[in-house]
Amino acid sequence: MKWEDNVRKVVPYVAGEQPHKPHMIKLNTNECPYPPAPGVQRLAGQMDCGALRLYPDSDAAPLTDALAEYYGVKPEQVFVGVGSDDVLAMAFMTFFNSSRPILFPDVTYSFYDVWAGLFRIPYKTCELGEDWHIRPEDYCQPNGGVIFPNPNAPTGLMEDFDTVEEIIRANRDVVVIVDEAYVDFGGVSVLPLVEKYDNLLVVQTFSKSRAMAGMRIGFGIGNEKLIRYLKDVKFSFNSYTMNYPSQMLGVEAVRDDAYFKDTTGRIVKTRERVKKELAQLGFHFPDSRANFIFASHRTVPAAEIFRALREADIYVRYWDKPRISDYLRITIGTEEQMDRLMEFLREFLPRAL
Ligand code: PMP
Repeated sequence: MKWEDNVRKVVPYVAGEQPHKPHMIKLNTNECPYPPAPGVQRLAGQMDCGALRLYPDSDAAPLTDALAEYYGVKPEQVFVGVGSDDVLAMAFMTFFNSSRPILFPDVTYSFYDVWAGLFRIPYKTCELGEDWHIRPEDYCQPNGGVIFPNPNAPTGLMEDFDTVEEIIRANRDVVVIVDEAYVDFGGVSVLPLVEKYDNLLVVQTFSKSRAMAGMRIGFGIGNEKLIRYLKDVKFSFNSYTMNYPSQMLGVEAVRDDAYFKDTTGRIVKTRERVKKELAQLGFHFPDSRANFIFASHRTVPAAEIFRALREADIYVRYWDKPRISDYLRITIGTEEQMDRLMEFLREFLPRAL
């Protein structure tokens, strides 16, 4: 008997790299290229450090209340966490306890199978169609729960409201989690459905559309009873997860709706322009509704483009995995950053052919 026999062995999630080079163009982790709202910056500069002496509010009440008001739900329907990864991990632990497998797409956020492994949850993946869309009929088989991002990552494709509702309706005896990390870039949220379906949890984040990946803020909205179960597990794990600065600065981000709409609108505009230019350069891609484009070149292998970009300090995401090894996931940056990416590709691709 060795101590190692009793270790919980897991295969961890591999996050995108976070290089810090002065002139790099970082398009690899779907961060927002614009700064957080001015109110966030203002408050960060005036923050009373004396308050750090105390534990933060364990319910993150200021932020929970601001989110409830913004989304038109009761505070009891809101659960906040340290990034949506924290909310999702708690939700896996709370809701996915069946001996039946949970279901999620084969090409999706690569943390789902990691949490399933960590919490010993059986899972089964459902193959996306040839067009990269979810096939709702796949989610009609017996299961222990359902989770998918909408828009999906890394494809960027959005399933329409009725398709999502069809999946929820077919799964009233389990919890369905819709991970809307990328919904603010022109997508349609199924948040209104939480009033109709008590088995639905909608999860969103401040990391992309609210430019606060470094603060680590995510939230889930659902029926009051569902949220109570989630809180019971969270308070059995760690009461004070979200720190005081995140709670206070998060409120400022929610308050400035004009800034939020302006920056997300700008990203959508840049995305649509980049789609046209990538197509002209010989790329094809699913029609993204997220803040990234999942693109493959007709002749030059993605791995080769990835390496060349990296050498030029332009970082995008690449996975050497079945079905997606010829695609690059390119985050939408500022207009100037995308200009530089395009300039590089226009120069590099003819040489690589
Ligand atoms: N869901 C999806 C689909 C994502 O791509 C990400 C970002 N890696 C997350 C959730 C988690 O984001 P965060 O923890 O920063 O809120």
